[in-house]
Amino acid sequence: MDSGPPTLHSRRTLTLRFNVPISRTHQFWDSLREGRFVTTRCGECGALSFPPQSDCARCMSGEVEWVDLGTEAELVTFTYVQVTPPSFVEDDPYIVGIGRMSQGLKILAWVEGTRLEALAPGMKLKLEPRTSDDGSPYYVFVPAP
Ligand SMILES: [Zn+2]
Repeated sequence: MDSGPPTLHSRRTLTLRFNVPISRTHQFWDSLREGRFVTTRCGECGALSFPPQSDCARCMSGEVEWVDLGTEAELVTFTYVQVTPPSFVEDDPYIVGIGRMSQGLKILAWVEGTRLEALAPGMKLKLEPRTSDDGSPYYVFVPAP
């Protein structure tokens, strides 16, 4: 018999729902629906943020402006997710990559349109908009043509 302290284990599913105010970052989603990628740049110190931020994480200024992010990226690293987390349990295994945009920002996204064996750090990627089954916009990396 285990002589350690009593512990409580539960296998119940805990659902967390986050209500994140997007009133000052909705332009990202509006632009994404139009196929454009934008993010915020601090009007005080010039720091770029991704995801877009309503306040600068470096200097706390609320003076942010929208800038075009473009679509060209370079693959920094990637991984193959074979055992999907509960929120993606309906999905097939997938590839997640980190791409460095031309301004130096790094973005995490699914990598589609390629095989795992074809990926290598440094390869050129393109950020592309997608729409989920429920109509929500999202984005993926695909190999650059
Ligand atoms: Zn700043």
